[in-house]
Amino acid sequence: MTDNTFEYAPAPESRAIVDIKPSYGLFINGEFVDGNGRAFKTINPATEEVLAEVAEADDADVDAAVRAARRAYTRVWSRMSGAERAKYLYRIARIIQERGRELAVLESIDNGKPIKESRDVDVPIVAAHFFYYAGWADKLQYSGYGSTPLGVAGQVIPWNFPLLMLAWKIAPALACGNTVVLKPAETTPLTALLFAEICQQADLPPGVVNIVTGAGETGRAIVSHPDVDKVAFTGSTEVGKAIARAVAGSDKKVTLELGGKAANIVFDDAPLDQAVEGIVNGIFFNQGHVCCAGSRLLVQESVAEEVMSRLKRRMATLRVGDPLDKNTDVGAINSAEQLSKIRELSEVGESEGAERWSAPCDLPSNGYWFAPTVFTGVSQAHRIAREEIFGPVLSVLTFRTPSEAVEKANNTPFGLSAGVWTDKGSRILSMANRLRAGVVWANTFNKFDPTSPFGGYKESGYGREGGRHGLEGYLKNTEKGANS
Ligand code: NAD
Repeated sequence: MTDNTFEYAPAPESRAIVDIKPSYGLFINGEFVDGNGRAFKTINPATEEVLAEVAEADDADVDAAVRAARRAYTRVWSRMSGAERAKYLYRIARIIQERGRELAVLESIDNGKPIKESRDVDVPIVAAHFFYYAGWADKLQYSGYGSTPLGVAGQVIPWNFPLLMLAWKIAPALACGNTVVLKPAETTPLTALLFAEICQQADLPPGVVNIVTGAGETGRAIVSHPDVDKVAFTGSTEVGKAIARAVAGSDKKVTLELGGKAANIVFDDAPLDQAVEGIVNGIFFNQGHVCCAGSRLLVQESVAEEVMSRLKRRMATLRVGDPLDKNTDVGAINSAEQLSKIRELSEVGESEGAERWSAPCDLPSNGYWFAPTVFTGVSQAHRIAREEIFGPVLSVLTFRTPSEAVEKANNTPFGLSAGVWTDKGSRILSMANRLRAGVVWANTFNKFDPTSPFGGYKESGYGREGGRHGLEGYLKNTEKGANS
């Protein structure tokens, strides 16, 4: 045989398991309602196919949702014992597991992420969050943050992890005895609406969870509603700052999870093949639509050439394409708007003098795609080293000493996460102490667990989600010594 290549056989997950309706209403007081009649379309970013029409909530719809949440809070949820609330959370967690395949397929269709990620990462962690916070519901007196809920939580989430961000917001809020009004992002509303069906299936009392769909105006109506006691937001730093300004002077409690520009630092004693896997996972996981993505690679000069050659070899094997194909590593960019931002910043990178290399791959003709890309010869002043690209684009810088690595890593307005790759435990500890980042991963990257707090410094926001610390944002701080 002269030709030993073989043809690629796709392994697509069937979409028959999901039942996408032509149109969706708002989920208020335990029912789907029409609202004001305005609607927007949600599309599949891998094909540009319109998936459904979704209601766009206005101020009056948001007000109806907040009133339903207030009623449920006063009459039912805040009066229920923690042990009773836990039963609902456990039930929701079990239904998420039972309907896991359906949730994963729908998430991949509406968001563009590979099925192997929605199936093996997003959905299992979503269920784990509900299980974890169910466990806290009857033990709040041991949290260190008191056990009194705040009331109604207004929650606004982004499109990069639609269901996971929902879980990070709703699970601790309900465990602490709050009720919620949540708005998913306008490009990814469908799994939140399926979650609303799961709330019905779990017999959650009406009004405890309300899901209102819409864009920025709907989000603004939620965060500025006078009867919302707590605002929880994940998204861009720009909108986060606008929200902080909007609630200033009110007694609303606020947590903000914003952007990042994480340094992934590779020392010359690191196991290089493992580090290359970590670099790939750090920036190409979820198409790089990750606030804590390892988007700045800091590599020690003595191994830079070797790391780059292994990295490019590995990148050339990444399979980009159909999100529902079980072999796909990198799926579709979530929207035309995000694709144009990624393209624009990449062009800026070239014009600033950095050298661009993209993995050779055939991109589908429909949908929104961007080949995994790496920039070398990047300096700290370049925009691609400073700004969040939020796509599959890596900027590479080099360093000589640990101090130089720390200085470069911390030279950013953000402070969400960082990675350190080295053989020496003592170096891991000293780096972790010096890096201004909420999460520091050592010899791994992008690992999430419900028991572990997550959050940032500086322009990456404030407040923590996950773990015992994640309860603080949903309780009145009555404990002596609790952080405010
Ligand atoms: P965004 O901040 O514009 O939107 C996030 C959510 O906020 C969406 O639900 C949106 O409808 C809502 N929103 C928009 N304007 C609002 C307002 N004035 N008041 C209240 N809610 C409002 O972010 P995006 O468009 O989803 O993404 C833009 C950038 O944000 C990305 O390029 C990336 O840099 C960053 N981002 C960060 C994260 C993160 O997890 N930290 C997630 C997604 C996006």
